[in-house]
Amino acid sequence: MSNPSLLILPGDGIGPEVMAEVRKVIDWYGAKRDMAFDVSEDLVGGCAYDAHGTPLHDDTMAKAQEVDAVLLGAVGGPQYDDLDFNLKPERGLLRLRKEMDLFANLRPAQCFDALADFSSLKKDVVAGLDVMIVRELTSGVYFGEPRGIFEEGNERVGINTQRYTESEIARVARNAFEMARRRNNRVCSMEKANVMESGVLWRRVVEEVHKAEYSDVELTHMYADAGAMQLTRWPKQFDVIVTDNLFGDLLSDLAAMLTGSLGMLPSASLGAPMENGRPKALYEPVHGSAPDIAGQGKANPIACILSFAMALRYSFDQGTEADRLEKAVETVLADGLRTADLLGQEGVAPVSTSQMGDAIIAALDASL
Ligand code: NAD
Repeated sequence: MSNPSLLILPGDGIGPEVMAEVRKVIDWYGAKRDMAFDVSEDLVGGCAYDAHGTPLHDDTMAKAQEVDAVLLGAVGGPQYDDLDFNLKPERGLLRLRKEMDLFANLRPAQCFDALADFSSLKKDVVAGLDVMIVRELTSGVYFGEPRGIFEEGNERVGINTQRYTESEIARVARNAFEMARRRNNRVCSMEKANVMESGVLWRRVVEEVHKAEYSDVELTHMYADAGAMQLTRWPKQFDVIVTDNLFGDLLSDLAAMLTGSLGMLPSASLGAPMENGRPKALYEPVHGSAPDIAGQGKANPIACILSFAMALRYSFDQGTEADRLEKAVETVLADGLRTADLLGQEGVAPVSTSQMGDAIIAALDASL
């Protein structure tokens, strides 16, 4: 059987710096766990524009469609701000998401005990937090028609349309239920069925999928505004939250920040299963290209490394190895290692991007 394939797209700014640390982790799995990956690397974003005049070359897009998983660093930078809209670095990323039809965006909000003081909430509210937000990513109000700014009578009107088909709701609901089965078996679905017909349909379809295929999973519902309050009041009540594109945009940012730094947050975007049963998948840190610290060895590589842990779990069915990698991250944090973004205490000197990567490798070694 051939090795699983990975396409690595480091991108711009700190992207290549954090991805270099992920490469160390991938190499470690090949050398120490007999898990070799066929890794190829290509350009996306501003660097692709510099090389090819487009933020994503067609050949790169074709490769992304063929591999088992894509791992992306970050795109963008001030030098590209004046480019035409369709040439901007972010368009490369959006094209990947669109053409791979990545309809489910997974954003874990996980708080490592060593960083609980970083949250804006009280320590006991966030310590040990582990919530997964599953956000519908390819439909809803960001895509629905009609949309635009129109003249109506003697004034302008801005229109966006929230539109969901039942198949769009059902597929993301299945994804959330599957996710819950790998975790603590609970799903909370959030919408605004009290004021939106699309919310009424959302709730109905989630219930139908649950009854027909996932009755072993505990399902609850919450209005999205109440959900936002509950997420800040007592976030540990949740396991998996499934919600639409707009509410998911807000709720996943809210949940993410409960845990502290942007440099810690991984994400996955999943699509339909391919022939080999693996979902189409793109893994990436939540953060951007951080031009303010690029090239200085200051970037925290953990978000990107944890994105690879998600790939191990969701694309390669290596949950135990994903646990091992997350545990290694937890260990180095518990040992007091901090990149500059995680500093708060006086007297602690920051470690560099590569020192953090090396420490995680050492913790992986120690786990054997
Ligand atoms: P950003 O996430 O790049 O940076 C925000 C702040 O967080 C900066 O101060 C940065 O130094 C810090 N930061 C981010 N990641 C960090 C890390 N791993 N370690 C330490 N500190 C980190 O957001 P921004 O400044 O708004 O955007 C910069 C560029 O990135 C823009 O061109 C933007 O369009 C792009 N962007 C890309 C993505 C993506 O590729 N998915 C996401 C967001 C923004």
